[in-house]
Amino acid sequence: MVDVYSSGNRANDLKKRRETAVARGLNNVTGIYVNSASGSTLKDAEGNEYIDFAGGIGIQNTGHNHPRVVKAIQDQLSKFIHPCFHVTPYEIYIRLAERLNELTPGNFSKKTMLANSGAEANENAIKMARKYTGKSGIVVFDRAFHGRTLLTMSLTSKVMPYKKGFGPFPGEIYRLPYPYYYRSDEGLTRDETDKLMLNNLHNFFQYEADKDSIAAVLIEPVQGEGGFVVPSETFMQGLKKFCEDNQIVFIADEIQTGFGRTGKMFAMEHFGVEPDLTTMSKSIAGGLPLSAVTGKAEIVDAPEPGQLGGTLGGSPLGCAAGLAVLDVIEEENLLDRSVWMGEKIQSAFSRLKDECETIGDVRGLGPMCAIELVADKKTKEPAKELTANIVKRSWREGLIILSSGLYSNVLRFLPPLTMDEKTIDKGLAILERVIEDESKQLMDIQGE
Ligand code: PLP
Repeated sequence: MVDVYSSGNRANDLKKRRETAVARGLNNVTGIYVNSASGSTLKDAEGNEYIDFAGGIGIQNTGHNHPRVVKAIQDQLSKFIHPCFHVTPYEIYIRLAERLNELTPGNFSKKTMLANSGAEANENAIKMARKYTGKSGIVVFDRAFHGRTLLTMSLTSKVMPYKKGFGPFPGEIYRLPYPYYYRSDEGLTRDETDKLMLNNLHNFFQYEADKDSIAAVLIEPVQGEGGFVVPSETFMQGLKKFCEDNQIVFIADEIQTGFGRTGKMFAMEHFGVEPDLTTMSKSIAGGLPLSAVTGKAEIVDAPEPGQLGGTLGGSPLGCAAGLAVLDVIEEENLLDRSVWMGEKIQSAFSRLKDECETIGDVRGLGPMCAIELVADKKTKEPAKELTANIVKRSWREGLIILSSGLYSNVLRFLPPLTMDEKTIDKGLAILERVIEDESKQLMDIQGE
């Protein structure tokens, strides 16, 4: 068993220096200080190896340091690093924009702008929607996560840790319910929950807010930080229709769900919905800072020249990596692999659910799947401490896994889509053992 608490002085030394030199507000999920990473595994300074079920929070769909991505970055590095697109533009930016225009859902003429982070993409999508519609209101959802800048933090739901103490927040942001079937009111079916949610939407805009003031609806096709909550086609299509009927820009935040994460290139394809704008980042460039807003040409073009941009946005290295990522997804059939991986993981998790007292729900779309842990299957009381113990014990045993959810009681699975079957099985075996063991300890304490 790897025990990084005592695996030499290097990690302890780095921890001390980190605490002295680096802001406390930046959380570290693990105590692992990475020294190298390749494919689906990472190594620390002592040579301990870890299986990566986190992929840097969904950044590594094509695997750490994919040789193709590394080569593309190196080739670009030898030409130029960053002359700034606003000063002397370059072809590689245009090529990536063309590919994203082709790949994102929507049978209409599209355009793209590139930026640096997911939050920046969402901010720009809101700017475009406001300029296009001449309206200002924004609709977001319970448990949403859209970033940490002042606007996107305000669009994000969870108060602690994301928002507490950072107000005042911008106005005209309306938060509506997003179906969470596992925690629907007692006795409600999925269909009834959808109906309730869509009625809520219509009632809200009849009685509480003016729908004619709304510029955009911003939604994650599957909630990421919110706990891998998957809505239905009925809900998503109902929401899209509401937007169409009221000249509201529908923005899909595909920052965590994009680039094959759910078994399709973009998760909105599962719902048969064509967003007006799609925001992307994370796995777009194999880990280099890059993000994009792609969508209807007339909306992307609403801001005047000079109203969009940023000095480092759409860096040549990021664009080169982005094009290589798209090639890898295509040439290595990663979408098929993603479907296969999703079926494998979901069936392993479902089996575990039948055996384990603390697994309340298993859900997901493709390999973007999760386990929700509860102290009691009847009351569904969230098991936050158990989840934290499982995450910590897993990395001490050589597996990196993350939690999420409003109650921090969801284990989420975001591995590279290139992970081989043997490594998946090895990771699952660690996870099963840790969940069973930690759950038994909890049950023993509850039974006392
Ligand atoms: N939107 C979603 C759905 C995310 O998952 C994230 C990051 O986790 C963001 C936006 C923010 O992206 P970034 O951290 O690159 O600003």
